[in-house]
Amino acid sequence: MTRIAFIGIGTMGLPMASNLVKQGFAVTAYDVNAAAVQAAAAAGMTAAATAAEAVAGADLVVTMLPSSPHVESVYLGDGGVVAAARKGTLCVDMSTIDPAASRRVAAAAAERGLRFIDAPVSGGTPRATDGTLAIMVGGADADVAEAMPALQAMGANVIHVGPVGSGEVAKLCNNLIAGVAAVAVSEAFRIAEGFGVDAKVVTEVIAKSSGGTWLMEHMHPVPGIVPRSASSNDYRPGFMTDLMCKDIGLAVDAARALRVPLFVAPAAQQVYRLMSSHQLGRRDFTSVYTFLKPSAKDAPV
Ligand code: NAD
Repeated sequence: MTRIAFIGIGTMGLPMASNLVKQGFAVTAYDVNAAAVQAAAAAGMTAAATAAEAVAGADLVVTMLPSSPHVESVYLGDGGVVAAARKGTLCVDMSTIDPAASRRVAAAAAERGLRFIDAPVSGGTPRATDGTLAIMVGGADADVAEAMPALQAMGANVIHVGPVGSGEVAKLCNNLIAGVAAVAVSEAFRIAEGFGVDAKVVTEVIAKSSGGTWLMEHMHPVPGIVPRSASSNDYRPGFMTDLMCKDIGLAVDAARALRVPLFVAPAAQQVYRLMSSHQLGRRDFTSVYTFLKPSAKDAPV
């Protein structure tokens, strides 16, 4: 039986690792947050006190961490995965991070005889729970094939994009679009509301028209239209504003390095940044709808 060390038992990591347990994998879990480790134990995982302890007996290491610095420190820091895992161990980082950081970690892992692939995900907590995430993978063919049974326990659409870092490239392209779409959909529905037109009916129309988006159908920013959306659950994440801000930032930084002109993504990035400074950083990113409240009726037009 494949023994899996799972590091980062957060919003996404817990349901993903729980699906590995349900599919019969032996999972040892570690997180800096003790409450997360307790939740992992309650879901049938073995609790580890450190990352090094978690990876010591593992065949496969899976990481699901917030951002590039967390991934670099978990892999490359003192007592990190690269120092502690056995030679030959296959590491699968499923966090959304800078593709260049994935390549740095992969190179350091290779120097110690470890293998590394990137496999970021899309679909949010409902799909993480159902085991139907979209997973975009960057890595060598043989490594991707070896990780496939574990990836298929967590996702329904696993796509091998290219060499290490390519999964992250696909992911940041996707989140650029999703982040911009949440702002655009929220703006449109504030206008509909201002005219007193029923949001449910406008949703039906748009779903069958050229403005239809996956985001509107599954993560509608207006409460009460999609029952499992964060907006219908008081904007509990879901996908936090701070994480969307990070992801659009990755796309904006990549575009700068590649000298690609961007207009819409940097505007959306500033909206999310401003939301963060107004206590919405840890709410779902679709709470942008609440942020776009119209000003008072007697304000100058
Ligand atoms: P989260 O903050 O809920 O979970 C991250 C976990 O990592 C936390 O439990 C945290 O305690 C743990 N952690 C941080 N530093 C650590 C360390 N040094 N050692 C061990 N554990 C550590 O975030 P999340 O929503 O689960 O997102 C994780 C990743 O998945 C992010 O890169 C995010 O962009 C991506 N993602 C999230 C969603 C979503 O809907 N939430 C969807 C797709 C992709």
